[in-house]
Amino acid sequence: AKNSNQSNNQLNGKVSNDDRRVEFFARKHRIAQQRKSLPIASVEKRLVEEVRSNNILIIVGETGSGKTTQLPQFLFNAGLCHDGKVIGITQPRRVAAVSVAKRVAEECGVQLGQRVGYSIRFDDTTSSSTRIKYMTDGLLLREALLDPYLSRYSVIIIDEAHERTVHTDVLLGLLKSVQKVRSGPINECANIDCMKANNGLLMEKENDAQRASILKQYRGIKLSPLKLIIMSASLDARVFSEYFGGARAVHVQGRQFPVDILYTRHPETDYLDATLITLFQIHLEEGPGDILVFLTGQEEIESVERLVQEKLRQLPEDNQKVKVLSIFSSLPSEKQMQVFMPAPTGFRKVILATNIAETSVTIPGIKYVIDPGFVKARTYCAHTGMESLIIVPTSKAQALQRSGRAGREGPGKCFRLYPESEFDKLSDSTVPEIRRCNLSNVILQLKALGVDDIIGFDFMEKPSSEAVVKSLELLVLLGALTEEYKLSDPVGHQMARLPLEPIYSKALILASQFNCLEEMLITVAMLSVESVFYNPREKLEEARTAAKCFSSLEGDHPTLIAVYRAFDEFLEKSNLGNSREKTEKNLRKWCKENFINSRALRHARDIHRQIRGNIEQMGLRIVSCGDDMLQFRRCLAGAFFLNAALKQPDGTYRVLSSGQGVQIHPSSVFFRTKPDCIIFDEFVRTTHNYVRNVTRIDYLWLAELAPQYYTLQEQE
Ligand code: ADP
Ligand code: MG
Repeated sequence: AKNSNQSNNQLNGKVSNDDRRVEFFARKHRIAQQRKSLPIASVEKRLVEEVRSNNILIIVGETGSGKTTQLPQFLFNAGLCHDGKVIGITQPRRVAAVSVAKRVAEECGVQLGQRVGYSIRFDDTTSSSTRIKYMTDGLLLREALLDPYLSRYSVIIIDEAHERTVHTDVLLGLLKSVQKVRSGPINECANIDCMKANNGLLMEKENDAQRASILKQYRGIKLSPLKLIIMSASLDARVFSEYFGGARAVHVQGRQFPVDILYTRHPETDYLDATLITLFQIHLEEGPGDILVFLTGQEEIESVERLVQEKLRQLPEDNQKVKVLSIFSSLPSEKQMQVFMPAPTGFRKVILATNIAETSVTIPGIKYVIDPGFVKARTYCAHTGMESLIIVPTSKAQALQRSGRAGREGPGKCFRLYPESEFDKLSDSTVPEIRRCNLSNVILQLKALGVDDIIGFDFMEKPSSEAVVKSLELLVLLGALTEEYKLSDPVGHQMARLPLEPIYSKALILASQFNCLEEMLITVAMLSVESVFYNPREKLEEARTAAKCFSSLEGDHPTLIAVYRAFDEFLEKSNLGNSREKTEKNLRKWCKENFINSRALRHARDIHRQIRGNIEQMGLRIVSCGDDMLQFRRCLAGAFFLNAALKQPDGTYRVLSSGQGVQIHPSSVFFRTKPDCIIFDEFVRTTHNYVRNVTRIDYLWLAELAPQYYTLQEQE
C-alpha cells in the first residue's frame, strides 16, 4: 500500500485518509485478483499434496506462472512450517530475492521482515517471526557453515535451478546429504558422531572449538525431515530428477500467447546502435505495449538510456511519451520496484534489463522484446588462474526464454538482432557456472564444512580437475589450507568465516599484522561496491578534475580510502546540529560537486560496518597506520601478490603469475604516469585486457612478503 500512496501523493498533492483507504482496498483487491488468475493458482491443492507426499520434488513451470511468489505462500498456508520453522527460497540473484520478497510481503498484507523477509549478503531484513525467507543461494551456503543441518528450515526451495550457478550446484550436493541425515534414523538421537557416521560429510575433527560449538547447538534437538523442492523454468527436469535418484517431477502449465520472431537480414556490426533503431521503429510503427530490451550490464544500460532520452527529445512532442526504466543487479531496490509499476496513461514503458528479466523477474505489460543476443558471462582460465566477465552470445534456451517474455498477456513480437542462420549456431544451453569460474571461494566453504575430498564430492556436474587443483593451490598460497589441503588454524577458519572472496579476507587478516586493519577494512568495503566515482560523459573533464583532489600518488587503493574518509568526515560534520533534511541536502550538494556516487558510498559504509562486526568477533585489533601508506602498500603486496604486474618497455604490463599482458584501466590514477611494479584488484576484459584498482609497490617486496610463491618461481 505504501507504493500506491506515494504515487498518489505525487499525482494529486495531498491525499485524504479516506482516499488512502479506498486506494488501499482497491489495490488489495487487485492483487487478490491477479493472484487468482495465475496459472499456478488452479493447482494449489495438487502441489501441496505433492510436497506432502514427496521429500524431494522437482517443479517445472513456465516463467511467470507464479512459482516463486505463490508456492511458498501455499506451503505456509498448508502449515508446512510448523514449530517455528522456516520456508527458505533461494535465488541466484540479489535483485530477484529482494523484489520478490517485497511483492510477497505485500500480497500477504504484512510488513517486510515480519512473516516474509529476505536476506542477502550485507542486507538481512528477516526477524524471528519470518517464516517465508527469500535469499541468495550464496547466502544459504554461508548459513550452512553455522548450522550444517540447516535445522531452522522445514522446506528449502532451490529456485531458478536451471541457472546452474556455482552456489546452486554446491547447495544441491550439500542438501542431498543434509536431507539424508535429517530423514534417517538419526532423528532419534541427535548425536553428532552418529550423524557423522551416517553421512561422512560434516565436521572433521580438525577444529575442536567449532566442533564443540556445533555439538552444543544440536544437543537435544530433534531434527525433523527436510523437504526439498527444486524449481526451474526450462524443461530439463530430467537431469535434476536423475541426480536425486529419480525424484518426482511435476509440470505447471503456463499460458503462452504466440510470439512472432523477427530476425535481421545481416549480422549487425554494432548491436547497441541496432537496438536503438529497432526500439524507435517499434515505438513509432507498432501498436501500444511495453518494450523489454535485453542488454549485458549496467554500463551498457546507462549509455543506452542516455541515447534513448537524447533521441526522444528530437521527436515531435506527441511521440515523446516514453518512460524509460532499467533493472540490473546493483540498482537500489526502490528503483528496482519501479519497473513493476504501470506507465502513466498514454505512455509506453521501455525497460532496459540484464538477463535478470529472462526468468528471475516477470514484468507485466511487455508486448515487444528486443534481443541483441548477448549476455555477460563469467569465464575462468585455469591455466592463468584469471577470472573475468566477458560478453558472449546467449544460448538457444536463453533466446527462447527472452522471446517468451513478449507473449505472457497477449500475442507479442520478439526482435532478434541477428540473422536466423546465427540462431542455429547457438549452443543449446548455457554451460553450468561451476565449469567456468574460480572455485577457491566454494572450496574454502566446503572445507570449512568438513568436505575434504573436493574431487569426490557429489557434484551434479564435476568441475574440471585442473580448476580444482588451481584453486586448492591458491588457497595454500594464501595460507588458508595447509600443504595437506586441510583448513589451517586459525587463518583458514577465519577466512572461511568472512563473507568475502578469499583474497580480501586474507588482506584483512594480514592487515592486523601490518597495523593497518582500519585502512584495509575501508579498502575492502570500497572494493565491494560499484564505482564511487560518477563520470557523466558530458562532464568528463570536470569529473576528472574533481577526482584529482582525492587522488593519491601511491595508487587507487589509498585514493579510495581518501574518498571514504572525506565522505565520512563530511557526514559527521553536517550531522552536527542539522536537521535530517538539511544533512541530506548538504550531502547531495557535496556529492554533486565532487562527482561522487553517494549511493555507492553509503553502501560501502554499510558493508564496512558489517565486516567490522565480523572482524571484531574474531578478536582482531583494528588499528590505523595513520599516514604511513608504506605499511598499507606492503600489506596489499602481501595479500595480492598473485595480482602483481611489471611494466614493459611499451608501457603495458605483464602479470608475474600468469604472464598475461594487461593495461591499466583509464579510471586509474596511474593511467598516465605508470609505476614500474603494481598490484591490482581486478582483471577486466573489454576491448583491452585491463586491470582496475591499481597500487604502486616495490618489486623486491614480493619475494620478501610472499616467499611461498616468489622464491619458488626463481628456483624454477
Ligand atoms: P515464476 O516464478 O513462475 O516465474 P513469479 O511468481 O515470479 O512467477 O511471478 C508471478 C506473477 O507475479 C507475474 O505475473 C509477475 O508479473 C507478478 N509480480 C511479481 N513481482 C511483482 C511486483 N513487484 N509487482 C507486480 N507484479 C509482480
Ligand atoms: Mg520464478
